[in-house]
Amino acid sequence: MSKTGFDTVRARRDTPGCQKVLHFNNAGASLMPRQVLKAITRHVQLEAEIGGYEASDLAHEQVEHAYDAIGRLIGCKRDEVAIVENATRAWDMAFYAIPFRPGDRILTCVAEYCSNYIAFLQVARRTGAIIDVIPDDEFGQISIEALRNMVDERVKLIAITHVPTNSGLVNPAAEIGEIAREAKIPYLLDACQAVGQMPVDVNHIKCDMLSATGRKFLRGPRGVGFLYVRRDIVERLEPPLLDVHAAPWVARDRYEIRPDARRFENWETNYASKIGLGVAADYALSWGLDQIWARVQHLSTRLRRDLSAIPGIHLHDLGKQKCGIVSFTLDRHRPEEVQALLGKKKMNVRVSSVGYTRLDMERRGLESVVRASVHYYNTEQEIDQFCAAVGGMAEEQNGTRYSHENWTVAGS
Ligand SMILES: *Cc1c(COP(=O)(O)O)cnc(C)c1O
Repeated sequence: MSKTGFDTVRARRDTPGCQKVLHFNNAGASLMPRQVLKAITRHVQLEAEIGGYEASDLAHEQVEHAYDAIGRLIGCKRDEVAIVENATRAWDMAFYAIPFRPGDRILTCVAEYCSNYIAFLQVARRTGAIIDVIPDDEFGQISIEALRNMVDERVKLIAITHVPTNSGLVNPAAEIGEIAREAKIPYLLDACQAVGQMPVDVNHIKCDMLSATGRKFLRGPRGVGFLYVRRDIVERLEPPLLDVHAAPWVARDRYEIRPDARRFENWETNYASKIGLGVAADYALSWGLDQIWARVQHLSTRLRRDLSAIPGIHLHDLGKQKCGIVSFTLDRHRPEEVQALLGKKKMNVRVSSVGYTRLDMERRGLESVVRASVHYYNTEQEIDQFCAAVGGMAEEQNGTRYSHENWTVAGS
């Protein structure tokens, strides 16, 4: 047990990757627990041995269980869940289902994710809809007051990012939900970086649609994501793409769109990943999202504190409440160089550059930042090692190490 009462030993014993790397890239893709790995490999093995269709027949219950597990994770019903290739496609299926007309307004946020904003641009160009960005408050998170003032009858959608890809910011998703619900405006939440690191409950947040991915803080496999759509709006949303799974072909001239959220899915799917997603959700629930969230905040607070003591470090996380993503730059080192140097020491971080969150990065004059993202299986000791490595880079740059070596030579 760690000081925070978290069984770090068990978490690490369950995580084979902990032996190999210091992994601070959980916002990119977390290390999978062995339970997830086992479920995936077992299914792929089965496909190889008895045939893919026969394997999915045999694994029917495990596949269906994924919907129950996601439902439990975010507080919805299984028929409100669609499992697709990734979070972007999940989000797209909801967004492109909404009909826009000239002058309709889409309200979004400064920290919105690149691909979502690209979709806004395309739809705005095609339909004449207008993109309006809700300004931030003094903490750098979505201003609730500004949002209230922007709401009018032309607003057809509020689509925001809960936790952005490039910083520790947590947007006030539930306060936005209050406003959306009251004004009866559909609310689409990109919860890609939130799901798996903090409690996310669709009824508390009051979002109508939510997208997330498997591989990030949820610790599932790559190539799988999911969409939640509230039951009472599912049937009003016509998917932008249909196939025989989403809309069975029931007569020569007629198809029938499924009544549940699986209308947003497609027929062929990666069954192993789908099973793995369910196991990852079960696994997160076995720890408890409140416990995970407390641990992630504890570690990231410590990481920010220790990094800030290093000369030449600049922290870039906005917001009142911060999450497991820690973004920083180091004087006279390009973020790409920091990533590469740490990579040589088997320490994984990622660079997040302007093209992923352009509105936010441009206004802050940032070209790119180093993103170090921690999860509950990381340790205080890893933070010490990591900060020593970053500190070493900062020192080298200031010539300290060089002069020290000279001194040693001169004195011997
Ligand atoms: C990673 C990310 C996405 C995209 O998820 P994919 O599974 O790669 O499609 C969307 N939004 C945010 C905020 C992200 O960080």
